[in-house]
Amino acid sequence: MHKDICEILISEEQIRTKVAELGQQISEHYQGKNLLLLGTLKGAVPFIADLARAIHVPLELDYMAVASYGDSTVSSGIVRITKDLEGPIDHKHVLIIEDIIDSGLTLHYLIDLLRRRNPLSLRICALLTKDRKRLQEIECDYVGFHIPDRFVVGYGLDYAQRYRNLPYVGILKPSVYEGSQKPQTEHQSPAER
Ligand code: 5GP
Ligand code: MG
Ligand code: MG
Repeated sequence: MHKDICEILISEEQIRTKVAELGQQISEHYQGKNLLLLGTLKGAVPFIADLARAIHVPLELDYMAVASYGDSTVSSGIVRITKDLEGPIDHKHVLIIEDIIDSGLTLHYLIDLLRRRNPLSLRICALLTKDRKRLQEIECDYVGFHIPDRFVVGYGLDYAQRYRNLPYVGILKPSVYEGSQKPQTEHQSPAER
């Protein structure tokens, strides 16, 4: 286990099993439909890469980047698109692939924006959702795991752009982001999630 992690919440094996399950469900639902998997950069990249290979119907991949609350560990609700889709979605069934739903603010914004582009359908698949009161209610069609309201990293999720490459989801030691051990982030632009 990485020295900055105090607990592994979801192991590689658990992720693998869950991704296969979700892939099966999604394949059944989207049989014969024009499916676009819309990944949110950067956090959902490992998830969408694994999930896409567990889906057995034809699909397209595209990505959006949503800039967020920098390197902080709490949501500010400030959301802006820094990379948009390559084309229109009015003839596609769109499935948003998210790493984690916390306050719900990011997805609420994204859903609102995408609905105005008239996709044939719009659904949401999140690897993780936090058990907490949302600032915006989100109806999530596919959920990997419900997790406690702790700050987690790994399998795409970062702290100050680090830890995305951990193959599991773990709880970051609070000492990493409290006080003198805080990673150097001054040279970085606001984080893309
Ligand atoms: P929301 O807008 O739902 O509060 O935030 C969703 C985004 O916040 C996620 O896509 C993710 O980038 C970030 N986020 C929320 N909770 C966590 C967490 O526990 N760990 C990490 N690394 N990012 C989180
Ligand atoms: Mg995200
Ligand atoms: Mg982040």
